[in-house]
Amino acid sequence: MCANKVKISVAKGDGIGPEIMAATLEVLQAAGAALEYEYVELGEQVFKRGIMNGIDPAAWESIRTNRLLLKSPITTPQGGGYKSVNVTMRKAFGQFANVRPVRTFDGFVPSKHQGVDMVIVRENEESLYAGIEYRQTRDTCHGVKLVSRTGTELIVRYAFEYARANGRKRVTCLIKDNIMKITDGLFHQVFDLVGAEYPDLIKDSMIVDIGMARVADTPEKFDVIVTENLYGDIVSDIASQVAGSVGLAGSMNLGEGCAMFEAVHGSAPDIAGKGIANPSGLINAAVLMLYHIGQGEVAAKIGNALLYTLEAGQHTGDIAVDKAKALSTSQFGQAVIGNLGKAPSKLKAFSTGSGKAVKMPSAQATTQSSRTKALVGVDVFIDAAHAKALELGAKVNMASVPALKLDLLSSRGLAMFDPKQPTKAPETEAVTDLWACRFSGENISNHDVRQVLANLEGLGIEWVKTENLYTFDGMAGFSGRHGG
Ligand code: NAD
Repeated sequence: MCANKVKISVAKGDGIGPEIMAATLEVLQAAGAALEYEYVELGEQVFKRGIMNGIDPAAWESIRTNRLLLKSPITTPQGGGYKSVNVTMRKAFGQFANVRPVRTFDGFVPSKHQGVDMVIVRENEESLYAGIEYRQTRDTCHGVKLVSRTGTELIVRYAFEYARANGRKRVTCLIKDNIMKITDGLFHQVFDLVGAEYPDLIKDSMIVDIGMARVADTPEKFDVIVTENLYGDIVSDIASQVAGSVGLAGSMNLGEGCAMFEAVHGSAPDIAGKGIANPSGLINAAVLMLYHIGQGEVAAKIGNALLYTLEAGQHTGDIAVDKAKALSTSQFGQAVIGNLGKAPSKLKAFSTGSGKAVKMPSAQATTQSSRTKALVGVDVFIDAAHAKALELGAKVNMASVPALKLDLLSSRGLAMFDPKQPTKAPETEAVTDLWACRFSGENISNHDVRQVLANLEGLGIEWVKTENLYTFDGMAGFSGRHGG
């Protein structure tokens, strides 16, 4: 028996973490999950020892070896350079997918909508959420929106594989490619390309703003959603909120390095130590983990006992209608244990096959081949506070070299000066200090770029950043001008 046990790392976490973990582990034990635990320290106590990412060195070793982590929520101290344990773990272990099932418990747990049963598959490592930011001038900051073909293909393929393995019918892609044509355009393009390999599934895409509005309005119409990191962060909170299941939902972070399973909620310091927290979110996370490691029978047994318990009106205080009859955390855990082997009568039951694990995809380079790449220009960003567009444009124009000529001066993406119309003033002067000078040419090299930079320096103009402009198979890999 022992030989078949799967060893997992367990972090009891902060706040209500130890209470909900105790109840969850009791349920796992009673249900006969073949697991062996290695306890690791993450969070508050580790932060207090001056380890800024909140992860004990021994915990790294354990998680790296076991590749599975069941984790209670962690309190991230405010300010002071402390790093979020979650973000560090996701990045360090290449957990590219965040999977969050969102459902309602119609008739048993109050919610704003009925019949919700969706899964949000969120890219976990890229997009604006990667937090790559710069401040180059006194007035202006830049955030980098990083979208890679490889990262997108991994998440999109995972979403389709998940949908297929779990009997889902539709995969909806949320993007904003009407505005971000290159980054979100790439995400959309890869979604379409990979989607063509899954003719059995319905595919659609929505602009993210209307998509989120629809998730808030008619969440029951969604099945699987796949989207970028920041959009996924927002849409999964909207979905959980409108489904009323924030305290009940579990989630998983998956990747090559290790898989992490946790409740969606935080450490709830306001109720910590009172023994009243609802352990359902963590129990649901444990159910996801059991499916992931192939213990689908135990997963279904626990999932169904939990649903039966909710149907029976055995509730913790956060969802109990009659607060006087609310169960404590451990009483709720015991109620679930008492209901093991029972199935819900109304709520959609778990089966051995539901929540099926998906083989981790690898990027298969959808359209990487035969790409020609040509340097056709450079955007040089300069720091010029209180400058007037026509004067600055005339001066910057003098930095042109034969191969690389000024094409456009812009501020915040709006054309401000065109050397072909050097006396045409913009509608309004720039209000910020960061300007982009676009120099374009043919058959150019970085040598020409360096000459332009040297010329700008000679003119006393401070350049703070450059972006080379390339075409790929003749298609511009940079955004065009606005308003010029
Ligand atoms: P929270 O989810 O901890 O609490 C929000 C509200 O929901 C509180 O009133 C709380 O009492 C209630 N609540 C949450 N979980 C509950 C449960 N299981 N049973 C009953 N009631 C529950 O969110 P917050 O207050 O914004 O964050 C508290 C701390 O948790 C912060 O330090 C935050 O950084 C951290 N956090 C950690 C994670 C994580 O580790 N995955 C996620 C979110 C927040």
